[in-house]
Amino acid sequence: MLSKIITEENVKQAYALIEDSENVVIISHVGPDGDAVGSTLGMYHFLKGLEKQATVVLPNEFPQYLNWMPDSDTIVIAEDNLDATVQLLKHADLLIMIDFNELGRVNGLKPLIEVSNVPKILIDHHPFPADIADVVISHPELSSASELVFRLICRMGFAQKISKECAECIYTGMMTDTGGFTYNSNQSEIYVIIAELLRKGVDKDLIYKKINFSHSEDRMRLMGYCLYEKMKIYPEYRTAVIGLSEDELNRFAAQTGDTEGIVNLPFSIKGIVFSAFFREDKKRKKIKISFRSQGDFPANRVASEYFNGGGHLNAAGGDTKLSLSETLQQFVDVLPEYKELLSKVEL
Ligand code: 5GP
Ligand code: MN
Repeated sequence: MLSKIITEENVKQAYALIEDSENVVIISHVGPDGDAVGSTLGMYHFLKGLEKQATVVLPNEFPQYLNWMPDSDTIVIAEDNLDATVQLLKHADLLIMIDFNELGRVNGLKPLIEVSNVPKILIDHHPFPADIADVVISHPELSSASELVFRLICRMGFAQKISKECAECIYTGMMTDTGGFTYNSNQSEIYVIIAELLRKGVDKDLIYKKINFSHSEDRMRLMGYCLYEKMKIYPEYRTAVIGLSEDELNRFAAQTGDTEGIVNLPFSIKGIVFSAFFREDKKRKKIKISFRSQGDFPANRVASEYFNGGGHLNAAGGDTKLSLSETLQQFVDVLPEYKELLSKVEL
């Protein structure tokens, strides 16, 4: 039995909107990860089971290692299909937004959502949700939006309706947002849910392989290059930094998703509390940043105070409009401000 963490009011409101809808568009954040794709496709399979029309729309491409997910080939990539996206939003009678807390996270979809006057449901696990939906189901204490989708479906009385495909998507999101249940994953109910997903037919060992053993040789060598040539350690700040220019990314033919996980590598080194990864993106004219931290060091505070971003305590991100070297310099310049906090973290 799971705790009823979603309020009764939220469950009723969400159920009423879903019941009244026929044509649902489900949206997640830019740079979609396993939780973004898993939670939205999980919701999509659930709605299909209710005989609703449902389409997942993502702002940009998702990584190739997720393309085995059931019906991932039906996902509409807004950046590449603007006309189709406009039509989909025009004909939708309900928008369900999952795994983000503000419209700045959906890039080109933002203006389309803003002008849409159909009901909206937000299902998210990031702190400080903006007022962007009629029903806001926000639970930052949960480690994935996919878990929240599972809980909502169950609370609406449809646990029996969860198909194997839906369960696979939800499991994938729960697994990827916890690094394969290695962080943010001490809540016992996670494993109650996993047991239920296994009963639905999920092959969790296979999903692990599909996600983790599916990369290119180039990507492996890129990781080697990052560790051997690029990683800088600042022991006095217990911090690791890796920055890659677009030329370097091109040298390793980096594809969408290939740089994911690099930011976690320095935590193999004893004592590292904070890790930052910087990636030049010339097309979008910015430096994209990923921050990860251990213990109670707030990666999201650094992201929001200096790098135009936010996120969770231990996983956050942001960007700058500066050059790569200027951005790296800015990061090194702000580290002293956090020195005391960094030194106090117990690992
Ligand atoms: P990642 O490093 O995987 O791109 O992002 C990790 C987490 O940081 C995301 O789940 C999201 O919460 C947050 N995040 C990443 N980039 C941004 C950003 O530009 N703005 C905000 N507000 N959050 C971000
Ligand atoms: Mn998530």
